[in-house]
Amino acid sequence: MSSHKKQGHRSHSKSLIGRIVHGALFIATFAYRALVLGVEGVFWLVHGLWSLGSLGRQAYHAAHVARTGVLRCPDGHVIPVSAGSIVHACSACGFRYRGSPLRCPNSECEAPVASVVSCPTCSLSVQSGLRGH
Ligand SMILES: [Zn+2]
Ligand SMILES: [Zn+2]
Repeated sequence: MSSHKKQGHRSHSKSLIGRIVHGALFIATFAYRALVLGVEGVFWLVHGLWSLGSLGRQAYHAAHVARTGVLRCPDGHVIPVSAGSIVHACSACGFRYRGSPLRCPNSECEAPVASVVSCPTCSLSVQSGLRGH
């Protein structure tokens, strides 16, 4: 008699556990989806902030170059961006000219605004902060 009662109790608790497990699975699935969406959201948020920051840094760098009129290569050499006495080679078309390294005078150049400038002293490349295209 007591064993019958126990069995009944067990079957009742089993269905309750089943419901709990089902609910927990539902919550787990929901939490997993929320987590994936959250991670994706955080990823895009960080990505967006990073792009904004890099755009801001580029704009700041370009403004700094325009204000001071010089770029500095990794070795610290001064690269004048306004003086016309130094021979520069366009990194896009290879055009060699005297003038600002930021603007290629070749009218057929596909990237007249140089995104990369070579140091006239050590020939190391420097980012101009301007978009080449
Ligand atoms: Zn060019
Ligand atoms: Zn240099």
